[in-house]
Amino acid sequence: MIRRSFFTLTKLRLDYDLVEPDTKEPESIPIPSNLILLLNEPIDSTKIAIIKTGDTVKKGEKLRLYNESYEYTISPVSGTISEIDTYSDDFGNNSTYFIIKNDLNQAGGADTLKYDLKDGIASADEFLRTLPGAPPLKTLASDDIKIKTIVINCGDTDLLSTTSQYVTLNFLDEIKQGAKLLKKITNVPKLCITIPENLNIQGEFDSIQVFKTSMKYPSNLPAMVLKKHLNLVLPPGHTPEDLGVCFISAEAVASLAKAYKTKSPCFEKILTIIDKQGTRYRVKATIGTSLQKIFKTFSIHVNEQDRIIIGGPMKGFATYTPVHPVQPDMDTVIIQDRDVIPELSDTPCVNCGKCIRICPANIPVNVLVRYLEADQYEEAADRYDLESCIECGLCAYVCTAKIPLFQYIRLGKHELLKLKADV
Ligand code: SF4
Ligand code: SF4
Repeated sequence: MIRRSFFTLTKLRLDYDLVEPDTKEPESIPIPSNLILLLNEPIDSTKIAIIKTGDTVKKGEKLRLYNESYEYTISPVSGTISEIDTYSDDFGNNSTYFIIKNDLNQAGGADTLKYDLKDGIASADEFLRTLPGAPPLKTLASDDIKIKTIVINCGDTDLLSTTSQYVTLNFLDEIKQGAKLLKKITNVPKLCITIPENLNIQGEFDSIQVFKTSMKYPSNLPAMVLKKHLNLVLPPGHTPEDLGVCFISAEAVASLAKAYKTKSPCFEKILTIIDKQGTRYRVKATIGTSLQKIFKTFSIHVNEQDRIIIGGPMKGFATYTPVHPVQPDMDTVIIQDRDVIPELSDTPCVNCGKCIRICPANIPVNVLVRYLEADQYEEAADRYDLESCIECGLCAYVCTAKIPLFQYIRLGKHELLKLKADV
């Protein structure tokens, strides 16, 4: 899984980009004739599936593999399931993909299912997990996790992306309605909202506590917001949820408001696309649309060895296929030309110490990575703070030897989790 560093010789600024003030309507991508949906559950050949190729589905219908399945996805169109198969992510984890052949006769959406949404988080969790922005409804509905604070994040979580700021500027009323709705259906006592300090937002937020976040990366990451604004330090190996704090994107909150208003799901995801020259495009695409279709709209030609990065340059991951579908939590897609992708580094660490100096979690990254390179994940955690990493990617950005430090760390954390699960 270790890949080359995403950083090219071009110098990145470590400031979040500010969204353009006169935001234009996003380019709307027509709904394709085939959509690809991912489901976070692997196919189990020992079980009898309740869904099969050739089944017809309605727009808004829940798709589950087995009667007892907890995971689901929602079909954004009416049509026919033309394929169900295994999807492997970049860690080699298996899940499932469906291809839905869009019934173009029903494109008007007159047959969209209506949901009987009640004023409780369990009802929202039953139908709305795959809304644009991917609201963390599983977490909020869980009996095992006690959330006391919800933080609505209006800042972008990686460099170059401006999707969250765009949504905040253009759907502020929906975000405010969604915040009220969240409070009502979750009964969580405290609601906060992060607003980038340079974003020109007018009006009040009633009882919501507003945190103005710096434009310097990585101030929008959950661990940084917890520390600076809620005075909470994330212990190693823990998540914000362990501290009773749940983060939700601005787009997810706006989507919840829309879904409750119409009693039906919405599927149009806002994305920032950045082409090989660095030109930024704002797009509205139906969840399940292949990225290739979006690239064609802007005449972006993807060559054999070009790299498609989902997410930003700091925290994103590369996908191996241009037909990767638009996902509910996908904010940014960057296309890197094969000629500017850095060579695979075979330079050893030169002990310059830059990674240690920049790390916000004070991790001895240069030593940590030696343990990770040797697959010694438990030692990396016990002795060199692997689990304290807040996954900002800054160490890889500054590394003199261009070692893909962040990719080693992500893999190390993943392997550590597997080791713990095996105990
Ligand atoms: S990604 Fe690197 S710089 Fe960021 S917290 Fe983790 S080890 Fe530190
Ligand atoms: S920045 Fe890279 S080369 Fe420098 S000490 Fe860290 S790992 Fe070694």
